[in-house]
Amino acid sequence: MSRQITSVVGGSAVEGGDAHADLNPSDLGDVVLEYGGVDAATARTAIEAAAAAFPAWSRTTPWERSTVLDRAGTEVLARADELGDLLAREEGKTLPEARGEVVRAGQILKYFAGNVLAPHGHLLDSVRAGVEVSVTREPIGVVSVITPWNFPIAIPAWKIAPALAHGNTVVFKPAELVPGSAWELVDILNRAGLPAGALNLVLGRGSVVGPMLTTDPLINGVTFTGSVGTGRGILDAHAPLGRKVQLELGGKNPLVVVDDADLAVAVECLVQGGFGSTGQRCTASSFAVVTDAVHDRLVEAVRERLSRWTVGDARGAGVDMGPVVDPSQLEVDLRYLEVARAEGGEVLGGELLDLGTKGHYLSPALVLGTSSTDTINREEVFGPVVSVIRVSDYDEALATANSSTMNLSAGIVTTDLATASHFRRSSKAGMVMVNLPTAGVDFHVPFGGRGDSSHGPREQGFAAIDFFTTSKTAYTAPGTPTS
Ligand code: ADP
Repeated sequence: MSRQITSVVGGSAVEGGDAHADLNPSDLGDVVLEYGGVDAATARTAIEAAAAAFPAWSRTTPWERSTVLDRAGTEVLARADELGDLLAREEGKTLPEARGEVVRAGQILKYFAGNVLAPHGHLLDSVRAGVEVSVTREPIGVVSVITPWNFPIAIPAWKIAPALAHGNTVVFKPAELVPGSAWELVDILNRAGLPAGALNLVLGRGSVVGPMLTTDPLINGVTFTGSVGTGRGILDAHAPLGRKVQLELGGKNPLVVVDDADLAVAVECLVQGGFGSTGQRCTASSFAVVTDAVHDRLVEAVRERLSRWTVGDARGAGVDMGPVVDPSQLEVDLRYLEVARAEGGEVLGGELLDLGTKGHYLSPALVLGTSSTDTINREEVFGPVVSVIRVSDYDEALATANSSTMNLSAGIVTTDLATASHFRRSSKAGMVMVNLPTAGVDFHVPFGGRGDSSHGPREQGFAAIDFFTTSKTAYTAPGTPTS
């Protein structure tokens, strides 16, 4: 029998629920673990547990909260190999990518352990003589954390850590495909010293527990990363309730390559940014915008690089790219390739691979001869698919890059500082990369996009406080007695 895990509500395991199997996308015969998906009533119990835990947790000292996060970060880092193996097995990114993600989660926990001790308020003289004004930050209350499958531990960490650091309590619903990494993170945080109910884990279908987790009156904020459709639904449902909502809904991210680019850098940026983690990153470079003078040489160099790109079992040695996460994502990838062909694109690669195990293997696909109005360049694919648009010069490249409506990340490869600076200032994206892949960000600085990509305050680093706290301005009259 496979390993069994459960939801965790008020510090206790919840038995029962609909049977779900967590399958290894590299080998569908391998059941990673099994769990019971809970119903909406159990989700409600988790919300009540978080609400009950809030008064005490919000009154702990920053040092107490810092200590829990620091201890959890230490354990995550110490278990990076084991947790990385679990993550690669249930999600399908390669072992180095998975281990790197676990290390990132540990770093995030450590970052917020320190960040909560930093000064977050102001004490000012009023414009009225003798009056004193303080501006302080307070937790928002019970926060729903809803996460996707593509970063099974890092995204939960970058939402849960700042939520707890600032004194909120949490109901956490991970994606159905990756419950194992989520369970481990919750278990580590609970054993690190959280009181019962401060962090609850709800394993279940989004359609079953999601509405409860986003609209229940005891919820004070929702932080969500996932698809545009689900995110928009949450926003619509939440708008009349007037509570805080933070959405990260993906990106359609360009990598611009201009005449003076170092081609070796461009190839690495495109291949790593486009095909790393099987292209299943919201910051993936999903379309390249390449000036005419370097287009053919770049395409040739990328083809050559991809001819040495190994697709295989996520945990295999020397594998560059693991499988697509599940059958429905594979179907989406193949459908976009069909549409690209129908609209006149030339697809290189993008073939189903039979590697001996039952897995969703797709070779990297490069789509040539596309234009900015083609479907493949308008919509997020979320697979190992990169399209290429040929343009005449930098001005056209910039306009084409900015034609995206999901402006999360944008990159440029150039050896000219003036061009780099112009692009940095003129890009519509929330994050800009110069001679770096569009994917791959730091944890101590803001993360987020513009346009249809994000909604609400930025995530991560010093920006996280904006969502996870609310500001209070207090005025004290002169001569107010102290007792
Ligand atoms: P993805 O396909 O990238 O996982 P989804 O938007 O389908 O994107 O899922 C992201 C997260 O949202 C998952 O945890 C999923 O279970 C959850 N979810 C799905 N439907 C809803 C809903 N109606 N309300 C809240 N969360 C939902």
